[in-house]
Amino acid sequence: MRYGKGIRGMTAVLLLCVLFFVPVGAEPVPGRDFGPEVPGIPEQTEGEYALDELPEAPDQDAEEAEAEAAEEAVGEATAGRLSGLIIGIDPGHQAEGNYDKEPVAPGSKKTKAKVSSGTKGRKTQIPEHEVNLQVSLKLRDALAAEGARVIMVREVAEVDISNIERATMMNDAGADLVLRIHCNGANSPKPKGMSVYVRKTGTKAAESREAARCVLEGMLETTGAQDRGVVRSNDYSGLNWSEVPSMLIEMGFLTNPEEEQLLISGEYQDKLVEGMVEGVAAFFEIRNS
Ligand SMILES: [Zn+2]
Repeated sequence: MRYGKGIRGMTAVLLLCVLFFVPVGAEPVPGRDFGPEVPGIPEQTEGEYALDELPEAPDQDAEEAEAEAAEEAVGEATAGRLSGLIIGIDPGHQAEGNYDKEPVAPGSKKTKAKVSSGTKGRKTQIPEHEVNLQVSLKLRDALAAEGARVIMVREVAEVDISNIERATMMNDAGADLVLRIHCNGANSPKPKGMSVYVRKTGTKAAESREAARCVLEGMLETTGAQDRGVVRSNDYSGLNWSEVPSMLIEMGFLTNPEEEQLLISGEYQDKLVEGMVEGVAAFFEIRNS
């Protein structure tokens, strides 16, 4: 990440987001999602104490002073724009698809494959799950560098995790936002460009859409890719089962020779990641302002 450019990019993404930001109001926004940062329970105590044996409250002043000193010591950059947030990353697909069925949404009779095998590069035959993971690992590090706590669905190819399980993992973690990382595919080599999918209706649909606009604007800014827009759809199990704001990012078409070349290059992957991080930061900046 280049920080000078990052700040300029951030301003641009923020402006674009504000332009697109639809005042919501349809769905009340619970404080824990977008409210001011709540001092977290120290990680090591999570789940270790029953309610009646909680340790005495620590001396708040001393703790704050200590935290301030630590922040000064590590400097502004590592304090991070995403401190206090939990961001989930789901690198789409896996080495082998699992075509057993699961309901596409809670209570739905319609079913879909637990996890499909994804698309592949027209020229190189590189499987989508590999590109998704390469970008996701870079994104993990970039978000962590901004202070976020990052939860990964997978960090290797050899897993068997259904789309419902992927969503449930993020619900259980209480993620503030989930990014599902994918590449698109088509029969024709012509289609290209990036789009972001969100659920059309249901839990966190409005927040997901706002976040998606910010992330798409961020990626368009850093990559110059063709804009295919934010698409609202109730056809994705991973989005329908999500109880937290989530989006599915189609970074580009592996079946378009030009984009395939870009998607497998480290340099372009860095641009994608930079755009995603700027978009995520802009989203929370607006929500918390
Ligand atoms: Zn995919």
